[in-house]
Amino acid sequence: MRLRHAIMNIVRFAPSPTGRIHIGNGRAAILNWLFALKTNGQFILRYDDTDTARSTQEFADGIKTDVEWLGITPHRVEWQSKRFDRYDEVAADLRARGLIYACYETADELDRRRKRQQARGLPPIYDRASLKLTAEEIAAFEAEGRKPHWRFKLANAPVDWVDMIRGPVHIDTATLSDPVLIREDGTYLYTLPSVIDDVDMAVTHVIRGEDHVVNTAVQIEITRAIGGVVPAYGHYSMLLGADGKGLSKRIGSLSIQSLRESGLESMAVVSHAALLGTSDNIHPCTDIHELVDGFDLGKLSRAPARFDEAELAGLNAKLLHMTPYASVAHRLEGVSEAMWLAVRGNMEKLSDVAQWRDVINSSDKFEVAGDDVGYIAKARELLPQEPWDQTTWKIWTDAVKAATDRKGKTLFMPLRMALTGLDHGPELATLLPLIGREKTLERLS
Ligand code: GLU
Repeated sequence: MRLRHAIMNIVRFAPSPTGRIHIGNGRAAILNWLFALKTNGQFILRYDDTDTARSTQEFADGIKTDVEWLGITPHRVEWQSKRFDRYDEVAADLRARGLIYACYETADELDRRRKRQQARGLPPIYDRASLKLTAEEIAAFEAEGRKPHWRFKLANAPVDWVDMIRGPVHIDTATLSDPVLIREDGTYLYTLPSVIDDVDMAVTHVIRGEDHVVNTAVQIEITRAIGGVVPAYGHYSMLLGADGKGLSKRIGSLSIQSLRESGLESMAVVSHAALLGTSDNIHPCTDIHELVDGFDLGKLSRAPARFDEAELAGLNAKLLHMTPYASVAHRLEGVSEAMWLAVRGNMEKLSDVAQWRDVINSSDKFEVAGDDVGYIAKARELLPQEPWDQTTWKIWTDAVKAATDRKGKTLFMPLRMALTGLDHGPELATLLPLIGREKTLERLS
């Protein structure tokens, strides 16, 4: 057993650049990032791009954009495609030690064998038939042009670990098929390169989805086989849709890219992903450090978390309602601090600010009809002189109330409609000084 002398935690986020990342991967990135921040550790962005046919630079660039938008600054970026020599070296060693073995079955043969096992009520575990091949049989396959794929010979023994999220986990690898590590064409499946990287990059904590729990048992065996230090593991539960069904069908619309392009704030997405499925209430955090302070993998539930887009939208609105001007000023055009403070409480997305800015600045007049024509004319006469402030609205409407027989909704709503063209919106007490006396007179005329 090798001892690790690392004094620093190292985590990794390992997406495959065969597509853009979705909210599920985004959650993996965020949980690892929070763990790194909480423990002063390092975060590696590792492209799992052993599938060179499907991986593209464009997807890798897109993932980088998505990760950065989430506020993550990786300490290191690694590419599996640059490490094939290293994987070949480890594979050669495993081969020499008889820990991986050549298999000659075709996919069809394996499939038929599995069906026979199932028909007999047996678990569909690979029977290691290839291990029993004679030299002649192997020579015959090779002469036929068959190339072997390579399986790792599991120890068929219990693997136990204390999962950072799930607690004690026990998996007997005798219940599993020996995993294929290398395909016929010599390319690597995910399993081995991931272990080699975790060992070589001294990854201390692997935080990933529970769909990898069984892989973990296998990967712990492989880590030991290559003389590595087994990292700590934490497997969080998967995200389900609000309907309780898997997210996979809607995953396109739930890419980080589409969430960003739909106008959501990154901190809303981050807050939601970080708090979803935990014992904490989901609330908006404008500062990552607030999430770091409360972060604890032990708070994650083992039950699947439900991802509800409506809840995320609501969180986004709440976040905007409390966002200080300084944090968004650079993204706003023609919006003063006073204007921001007046309208932020009415926003669902930041882009909504344009509507309220236009309501304030507009030189349009909004239609007034029926009884309201005379009423608005009267109110216009009673408009106070400037300077105006937050008290002006009350002074004005008190005067209008005293001079007319109107009260409540019939008093306020026609004024709101005449001033904004809308029956809802920010407090008129705050809007009125922003519109100013000149434009108010204009709109009431
Ligand atoms: N590329 C793998 C995935 O996205 C990485 C899994 C892991 O974290 O080991 O599922």
